[in-house]
Parts: sequence; structure tokens; C-alpha cells
Amino acid sequence: MTPLERALRDRIQAEGPISVEAFMEACNAYYYATRDPLGADGDFTTAPEISQMFGEVIGACLADAWKRAGAPTDAIYVELGPGRGTLASDVLRLLRSAGFDGEPHFVETSPVLRQAQEEAVPDAHWHEAVAELPAKPLLLVANEFLDALPVRQFVGDLERRVMIAAGGLAFDRDGEIVEDSPAREEAVASIAICLAEKGGAALFIDYGHERGGSGDTLQSVRAHAFTPVLANPGDQDLTAHVDFEAVRRVAEDAGAAVTPVITQGEWLIRLGIEARAQALSRANPERAREVESAIHRLIAPDQMGSLFKAVAIHSSDWPAPAGFA
Ligand code: SAH
Repeated sequence: MTPLERALRDRIQAEGPISVEAFMEACNAYYYATRDPLGADGDFTTAPEISQMFGEVIGACLADAWKRAGAPTDAIYVELGPGRGTLASDVLRLLRSAGFDGEPHFVETSPVLRQAQEEAVPDAHWHEAVAELPAKPLLLVANEFLDALPVRQFVGDLERRVMIAAGGLAFDRDGEIVEDSPAREEAVASIAICLAEKGGAALFIDYGHERGGSGDTLQSVRAHAFTPVLANPGDQDLTAHVDFEAVRRVAEDAGAAVTPVITQGEWLIRLGIEARAQALSRANPERAREVESAIHRLIAPDQMGSLFKAVAIHSSDWPAPAGFA
């Protein structure tokens, strides 16, 4: 039994069943606080860890939006849940080459990952929550951040909970499931309010769906394989698909503009990732096969290309970032 499972069982014994939301929040807080889960030796691999091309085309996209907005000098680079800091260092390399001189700000709760981020981007500023970010124009990226925030699950009007049954953890009810996520809505609203007031553009990339109502999407991964969601609490990655329709509604309600939602594959192609791959292979012929396999993983529909979606939220006085329309 994991130490977190012991603590959760004690809690359920004392308080009664806990919501799926409380379970997911406790599991992920413990999980991310105690390890670097990324890469071949970890539990899962994210797009920026597959190839620098991902961050480079995103950096070029943000640099272009920033320039078209008049290159405001008070803008800052923000990343939510920056992992190892790989994406930030790739994006910032492009932004710096375009003349952007703003500070990097990271929202990160994990002390282990903060340490990795400090090595990748030593001059960053760290925050515990989105609400603590400075009120400045934002160039923001969140890749696989929203999917880690807790969801609620409902069966009819009843919130689904986790209880102890037959000596193990079990759901208290099954049936047709509807999910929502107050934690995601709060994070997106806070960013959208800042964008509407101060200007800027925010890119959200995650696996998810364009319309709500996709049922039970809670899933768990360990060592690159799916696992039962209630197994090994705190020792496996729990995520749920992002409802991009909810993201849009919250951002628009906060007064920000939202682009259409697009698949990651289509977006990266429109941003020119294929030309970038060709240039990279020409410059490093010994890496051509690695580059080819990386771009396949990023854009192919049966890899990350279709399941992952991207959307941009921006202030009405900034142009929409490229690739969405
Ligand atoms: N964006 C990175 C890492 C994705 S993993 C990449 O693409 O490689 C999820 C990231 O979100 C981790 O850095 C994790 O520590 C962070 N995270 C998870 N829950 C969080 C929360 N509630 N607040 C802040 N950061 C969180």
C-alpha cells in the first residue's frame, strides 16, 4: 500500500467517502511533489520532451503575435506546469531571438520539478498558483497542465465518490458520467481576466475534446501503460481529458477572445513544423531519422496529432496567434 493510500483510507474511515475531485487532487499533489515523472524512465513523455521542434514553432508563434501587437516591452513569458523547463527554454530561445526581453514566470507546485526548471531557466520567477502572477501582458503556454487539475464526476445529480469496499478503494456509484472541473475553470478565468485587462495571448495544448459531454475520461498511466485509476494512489499519473468547450465559455465570460480549437497535428503543420524538421535534418544529417520519428509522434493522427488539441485565448486588442483560423 502506498503512503498516500494509507492516508486516504484513514481519511475515508474518519470522514466517509471522498469525491473523485478530492481523490484526484490528493493523488496528483503527492505524485508531482515526489518525482520527475517525464521521459522514457518515467511514466509518460510529453511533446516538448520528444523534440525541440515543438517549443521552437510555439516560440515563433508567440514571437509573431507579440510583434504584431506592437512588441510591448512590459510583456512577460508565463508557463503553467513547465515540467522539466524544456518547453520554456525552447520557446524563450525563439522569443529572445525576436527581441523579446521579458521575464519568465512559472506556475509550479512541485519542488522536484522546480529544481529541474531552475537548471533549464535560471532566471525564472516561481508562483504557487495562477492567481499570484503579476498583472502584465502575457505570452503564456500551458502544455498538459489542465489535464492534471482535478475533475468532478457526476452520475445524474449525485457526485461520484471514492469509498472503501472489500478492503480496497472503489467508486461509490457507476452509470452515465458527466465531468466538470472547477479547478480548471478557475485557472482559465484568472488568465482570461488578466489577458482582457492587460493584453496578451495564451496557448493551451492538451488532450481533450471540442465539445463537452464525453463521459468518463479519468485515466491513469504508469511506466507508459494504462493502469486502473484507483490503483497505486499517488504513484501513477491521473489525468482527465480537457473539455475545450468549457475553456471557451469561461474565457469568453471573462471578456477574452478565443480562437477555434484545432488538433495539435494540424496546428503544428500550419506553424511550419515540417519545414523546421527538414532544416534540422539538413543541418544534422546524422539526426535525420530521429527528427523524422519525432515529427511523426507529434503530428500523426494515430500518435499525438489528433487526440491533442490546441486553442488560444487572447485580448481583443491583440491579434489571434497564427495557425488557428
Ligand atoms: N508542461 C510540461 C509538464 C506537463 S506535466 C511538459 O509538457 O513537459 C504537468 C505539470 O503541471 C508538472 O510540471 C506538474 O508539476 C504541474 N502541476 C500539476 N498540478 C499542478 C497544480 N495544481 N499547480 C501547479 N502546477 C501543477
